[in-house]
Amino acid sequence: MTKKEEKIKKEKIIKIKKRILKESANTKENYKTTFKDIKKYFKIFNKALFKDSLNPFNDIKIRKMNGCWGQCVEDYSLRKGTKFFCLEMQPSYHNKKEFLQTLAHEMIHLWQQTIKKDSGNHNSLFYSFRPKFKKYGLHL
Ligand SMILES: [Zn+2]
Repeated sequence: MTKKEEKIKKEKIIKIKKRILKESANTKENYKTTFKDIKKYFKIFNKALFKDSLNPFNDIKIRKMNGCWGQCVEDYSLRKGTKFFCLEMQPSYHNKKEFLQTLAHEMIHLWQQTIKKDSGNHNSLFYSFRPKFKKYGLHL
């Protein structure tokens, strides 16, 4: 990478970080999940964390779940003979930051299973994203 490319990359990271910090600054206000936001931040995180390598989830569901904030569900289509991945998110979160962290978290699982053909567990591959998350002010 040239000096100039490095500079551009750094500026991009700063820009995205600022945006994430700004949009998740209000931790007191509850956040209501929308498909629009899921799609919007999927694109942002895909660029910022996964070098645009991820294909979108095949399906997205917003539903009440017990015991988890979100999940990446792997399913198999008998008709098509292919695997597909469904993102499930809660209808609301304590705040927007929690929503963003949950989405990014589930995107790692998608990355593990589709790009790395990994189990998708919370293993060392999963936690290898910790420094990247930190860079954007997100907790993993
Ligand atoms: Zn997980």
